[in-house]
Amino acid sequence: MDNVTILQAFQWELPADHTHWRLLQSMAEEFVFLGITGLWLPPASKGAAGAQDVGYGTYDLYDLGEFDQKGTIPTKYGTKEEYIQLIKTMHEHGVEVYADIVFNHFMGADETEEVPAIKYSWEDRKKQVGQEELICAWTKFTFPGRSKVYNDYQWHWQNFSGVDYDARRKDHGIFNFGGKGWDPDVDSENGNYDYLMGCDLDMENPETIEQLDHWGQWFLKETQVDGFRLDAVKHIDFKYYIDWLLARRKEKNAPMFVVGEYWADEVEKLEHYLDTSGNLISLFDVPLHFNFFEASSSMGSFDMRRIFDNTLLATRPEYAVTFVDNHDTQVGQSLESWVGGWFKVHVYALTLLRKEGIPTVFWGDLYGIPTQEVNPVGRALLILLLMRKHGAYGNQVDYFDDADRIGWVRTGDFDHPLSGYAVVMTNALGGSVPMTVSAVHGGKTFVDVMGNHDAKVVLDKEGSGDFPVKDGKISVYVNEEIIPVIREVEERLAKLQEKHQ
Ligand code: CA
Repeated sequence: MDNVTILQAFQWELPADHTHWRLLQSMAEEFVFLGITGLWLPPASKGAAGAQDVGYGTYDLYDLGEFDQKGTIPTKYGTKEEYIQLIKTMHEHGVEVYADIVFNHFMGADETEEVPAIKYSWEDRKKQVGQEELICAWTKFTFPGRSKVYNDYQWHWQNFSGVDYDARRKDHGIFNFGGKGWDPDVDSENGNYDYLMGCDLDMENPETIEQLDHWGQWFLKETQVDGFRLDAVKHIDFKYYIDWLLARRKEKNAPMFVVGEYWADEVEKLEHYLDTSGNLISLFDVPLHFNFFEASSSMGSFDMRRIFDNTLLATRPEYAVTFVDNHDTQVGQSLESWVGGWFKVHVYALTLLRKEGIPTVFWGDLYGIPTQEVNPVGRALLILLLMRKHGAYGNQVDYFDDADRIGWVRTGDFDHPLSGYAVVMTNALGGSVPMTVSAVHGGKTFVDVMGNHDAKVVLDKEGSGDFPVKDGKISVYVNEEIIPVIREVEERLAKLQEKHQ
C-alpha cells in the first residue's frame, strides 16, 4: 500500500452516546479522500465503567457491546453489530482496521476471593513491605450477564499476579499473589513495572495464556480486523506476544500490521523491546513525540536540526509509527504533553511528509475536542494529508543546515507525474533554504500549497530553487500544476464534511 496513513479514530472525551461506530461508518468516503489507509479504533470490549469506559478498563473481552453488563448493552461507542458493520464498510472502501487490545489488566470483577498475598512498595516493586497474608481481592470474573456465551471460562486469582486493593482492610497497596513474583521481562521503572492497575494478568499462568489465545482466535474470526494496537506493552512480559501474534498471522494468513504502545522517552528501551519481542511489531515513536513537545514549548530556541535525534525514526525507521498527540497526551489525561498550537502544523509535516515512519493522525487534531474547546487544526492539516496522498513519492533529501530553518524535498516519481515537493519551516525567523527537488521538474514553477507564502519559485535546469518561509511558519512548495487537483479534492471533501456538521 502506498503511503500508509493511520487515523486514531477517537479521543478521550467523545460523548458516551453509543454513536461513534455509526459515525465512523458514515465517514468512510471522507477517510479515503484524506488518504487514510487504516483506522485505529478504541478497545471494543466492555470496560468496568460500562458506557463511560473509554475502553482501557477491560471487564469482559467477549462482550463487544452485546450483553447487558456494567449497566449497558452497547459500549461507549455502540454495539457489536455496529462495530462489525463499520469494519465491513471500511473494507469495502479499501481502509484497514486495527483493533486496540488491552491485555495488561482486567477491572470490575464480579466477586471477591481470599488470596494469599505479599505487599510491595509503590516506588520499588521488588521491595516487600510485609509478610504473606490473606487479603480480600476483587479477582473473580464470572460474567453473569453473558451466561457463558462464546466461552465458559471464569477468571480467578490464579490468572493474575496482583491487585492494588485489599477489601478486608480497605488498604490501597500493591499486592502480589501466592509468592508468584512479577514477570521479569518488563520495563524497569519502579524497580519492575509489571503492575500498572486493576487485576494484573499473569503471563506465566498457562490458563491465562490459553484463554487469551482462544479470545484472539474468536475475535479475529468475528471481526476480521487487519491488525492490532497493543496497549501498555511495557507492563507485559516482553516475550508474551510472540506466540499470540504468530498464531493470529497464521489464522489470517497475512503479516498483519501491529503497533505497540511502549511509553518511554528513551529510544534504547524501545530498541530493547523490539529485540526482545522478536521484531514482530512496530512501536509508537514516543521519543519523537517528546522532541515535538519540547520544540513546541521552547519559544523558538529548539535546534531544529536535532528534531529527529534519539528517536525510533532515526534508529529503527522501519519500526516507527509516528504521532503528534493521542488520547493520553491530550489535556487532562495521564500522559498530558500536548503539542502547542503554533507548532502543530510543523510537526504534522515532520510526520506526514517524510518518507520514513508510518504517521498517525489524532482525531482530536483532525476534528477537534469540543468539550475542551480545542478546535480542529483545520485546513493546513487537510492539505498535508492530501499532499501525502498525492505528492509524497520518490527519494528524500534533507537540508538540515540551520538551527532555525530546515527543509527537505521529495523528488517525486515517474508514476505520479506531479508528485514531489520542497518543505521549508522555521521555529524562529524567516528566510530561505536553497534546495534541489529534481531535474525532472526543471523550469517548472513551484508555489506554496499551504498558502503561507506567495513566492513563485521557478526551478532551474537541475531542479534547484531558493525556497522562502516567513517567521515561525511552514511552506510546502509544489508544482503549480498540482494545485487545481488539490483544490478540487478540497471542494469535494468540504461537501462530504457538511454532512457531518
Ligand atoms: Ca502487567
